Amino acid sequence: MEQQEIMQEAVREIRKMYIDTNKSERCSALKTAIAAIERQIPKKVIDDTEFGMCPYCHGEFNSELVSEYNVKYCLHCGQALDWSKLI
Ligand SMILES: [Zn+2]
Repeated sequence: MEQQEIMQEAVREIRKMYIDTNKSERCSALKTAIAAIERQIPKKVIDDTEFGMCPYCHGEFNSELVSEYNVKYCLHCGQALDWSKLI
């Protein structure tokens, strides 16, 4: 199983725990864990601005160099990025 699939599976399992619990402090911890894992799963860069935009924080990249050098994480929030073009 690829690393990305392992992380997606972890998110699915944690979501089940989230549904099964009614303790608010545990819900909060699970939400934090899900958010941290999801930031590590590459998401496609939004390409409706000149140089692209982060799919998580919507921070705009201000240079084509960011995509040219295949920067793997958002400079604003740390979201893992996928620069492959949509077909
Ligand atoms: Zn970001």
